[in-house]
Parts: sequence; structure tokens; C-alpha cells
Amino acid sequence: MTLAEKLYLPAIFKGMGITFSHLFKKKPTINYPEEKRPFSAVFRGLHILNRDEEGRERCTACGLCAVACPAEAITMEAAERQTGEEALYREEKYAAKYEINMLRCIFCGLCEEACPKDAIYLTQTFAPANYGRKGFIYKKDDLLIPNPVTDPEGYEKAKGTSGKGVN
Ligand code: SF4
Ligand code: SF4
Repeated sequence: MTLAEKLYLPAIFKGMGITFSHLFKKKPTINYPEEKRPFSAVFRGLHILNRDEEGRERCTACGLCAVACPAEAITMEAAERQTGEEALYREEKYAAKYEINMLRCIFCGLCEEACPKDAIYLTQTFAPANYGRKGFIYKKDDLLIPNPVTDPEGYEKAKGTSGKGVN
């Protein structure tokens, strides 16, 4: 071992060189929440229950999404459309209750793929943090997209940037 090696000088300079080289590299960290990274184009976030162009609910409570769900996160209750409710529900059956347990959901998107009515979509937003488990049970009112006829602004916002969920 040379004297320089005995004093650990080569190792110290090598280490300092690595440290200084990082000073000029782009930082991988961001100042969240002021700065936000763009989502991937294939990001799957919170669900929406979609409406058609006349604002009618698309879901017919057929249950295919619940059957397809590997996490058993979806539950619903079907009801028959009554005379006079044609402007509310697109089909003769609709979901009187519809719930998704976001603590179970793995955001796989199989419910979206299984739906024959284009009634459920995963958007590019995510479930906010919550102190209680109940806050993660999303009911129909939480999931239903605003009416595009009466609230076009809210509808566009809920639809998100992915362009999915368009009638
Ligand atoms: S995204 Fe997947 S896990 Fe979540 S509700 Fe849909 S099918 Fe179930
Ligand atoms: S969201 Fe689609 S698959 Fe699920 S119950 Fe409604 S219509 Fe059927």
C-alpha cells in the first residue's frame, strides 16, 4: 500500500468527485404539491359513472362490472325505470345503488372493459386521502358524472384530460 493509499486520499477524491458530479445533474425530485408530474397516458384513477349526451344515466345495473372485478369492490342494486323517468335513465333498468370500495380496488380497469354500455370509466384523478375507512366507499352520488346538459363545465372537469367517457 502506498502512502497516499494509506491516507485514503484516492478514495476520498473519488468520493468527492461523485458528490460534485451530482451537483450539475437534473434533480429527480419535485416540489409536490406545488409541482405535479403529468400522469402517464395509461394511468387509471378514480371511476366515473357516465351519462349520455342527453344527460341520462347509462348504467343498466347489469352487474357485469361487478362480476369482472377481481377485488370484489363493486356492489349495486338494480331498479326498474318508471313512466316519466325516461329523461333520467337511458334503459329500462338502472342502478338505484352503486358503490365502489376504493380500499379494495386495484385500479385494473376490468370493470371499464366489461361494461357493454360505456357507463363506467377510470379517470386521471385519484382518491384523496381520508382519515376513515368509510370515506373510501364511493357511492353513486360520488361517482356519477355531472349532467352535460345542466352542468357542462362540471361534466368537462369530471371527464378529465384523458378524453375518455365522452358519449
Ligand atoms: S378497477 Fe378493477 S379492482 Fe377496481 S373496481 Fe374496477 S374491476 Fe374492480
Ligand atoms: S357500469 Fe356497466 S357493466 Fe356495470 S352494471 Fe352498469 S352497465 Fe353494467
